[in-house]
Amino acid sequence: MTRIKALKCRECGKEYPAKKIYYCQECFAPLEVIYNYDKIEINPKELNNRPKNLWRYFELFPINDEKKIVDLGAGFTNLHKCDELSKKIGIKDLYVKNDTTNPTYSFKDRPASIAVTKALEFGSDGVGCVSTGNLAAATAAHAAKAGLKCGIFIPNNIEANKIIQSSIYGARLVSINGTYDDANRLALQASEIYDWPIVNVNLRPYYAEGSKSLAYETCEQLDWDVPDHVVVPTASGALLCAIDRGFNDFKKLDFIENKNVKISAAQPEGCSPIVQSYKAGRNEITPVEYPDTVAKSLAIGDPGDGIYALKTIDETKGFAESATDAEIIDAIKLLAKTEGIFSEPAGSVTIAVLKKMVEQGDISPDEKVVCYVTGSGFKSIEAIKGLTPELIQIDREIETLTSIIS
Ligand SMILES: *Cc1c(COP(=O)(O)O)cnc(C)c1O
Ligand SMILES: [Zn+2]
Repeated sequence: MTRIKALKCRECGKEYPAKKIYYCQECFAPLEVIYNYDKIEINPKELNNRPKNLWRYFELFPINDEKKIVDLGAGFTNLHKCDELSKKIGIKDLYVKNDTTNPTYSFKDRPASIAVTKALEFGSDGVGCVSTGNLAAATAAHAAKAGLKCGIFIPNNIEANKIIQSSIYGARLVSINGTYDDANRLALQASEIYDWPIVNVNLRPYYAEGSKSLAYETCEQLDWDVPDHVVVPTASGALLCAIDRGFNDFKKLDFIENKNVKISAAQPEGCSPIVQSYKAGRNEITPVEYPDTVAKSLAIGDPGDGIYALKTIDETKGFAESATDAEIIDAIKLLAKTEGIFSEPAGSVTIAVLKKMVEQGDISPDEKVVCYVTGSGFKSIEAIKGLTPELIQIDREIETLTSIIS
């Protein structure tokens, strides 16, 4: 019996050997990795001796060969205690998991690190991805480090910095005249013609596992305590579901107490299919045809893991809430001014939604809350261009300065 048990269908439960497949041959539903927990030998007391990145949890990832690891140092980011912001929002115990400081400045380094490693294990000489921007840079950087070629599909409206960053790492980018969903459809077709695995299409079961590390780190950094409530920025729903699996892994291993963690989804109003279904009490998703939001990283109209995200929110007694573009920009400013963290719109949507949920009474003031802030503000400078301040211009004389500023 090995540590990695199988790939399991999320609908019918059929199990497959952990090979290069990603959907159930019987019912076409997506697959997920399952483990033999009694083969996982991690001693939480010895974690201190391990690398300060996500690979400290190697045994909980679907990788066989440690020598193939592609590591840029993703993960083990700061769990930032928000003493100032918590006062403004009106809760006692608030943390931000600051994933703006990852190697390519978003949490996508976590799943990309696992997926590119898996591509090496499968013997590929290149990898691809379809991206709203952050996965592009993360995949490109890890492919560069691994010596793999990289091809990327993007919709035609993503931010300049994300494009420049990805191409600097050596990736080839194909911009599709359409939305993320159009790019995704094309990537799916391409994956059947070309040899390279597309990390979030045909390596998706493996890829998604990397984001479990956000839950692992949260518990470890809370000194093996468990938050009451976490708020997750949500596009396809993959991150939200992975965080849930992460908490469940640690419960199964008895690293944390078996306590419910409420998991809430935060989406931008201009692309909030999961929030809309949640509020209507439906368990299916009606896709948003033309997403329109400043949070471009979250502009996925037809979320691949949407129904599983809804299920997770329901089972953990979380909520789903959206914020307008104006609320998201205000939240970028609030987080920066109170805590010194500069987030892209997709990250600060959690802060905007948290504020709303506290006002509505969805979150009570004494809950221990963690917001996942998933990407750096430098990724999306366009979003805040209007905030460029008027500078105080003076000559080189100190008297001029003191005449203006007393
Ligand atoms: C990709 C992304 C998310 C969430 O994506 P999912 O598709 O739901 O997994 C959140 N924040 C940022 C900054 C992202 O790039
Ligand atoms: Zn099935």
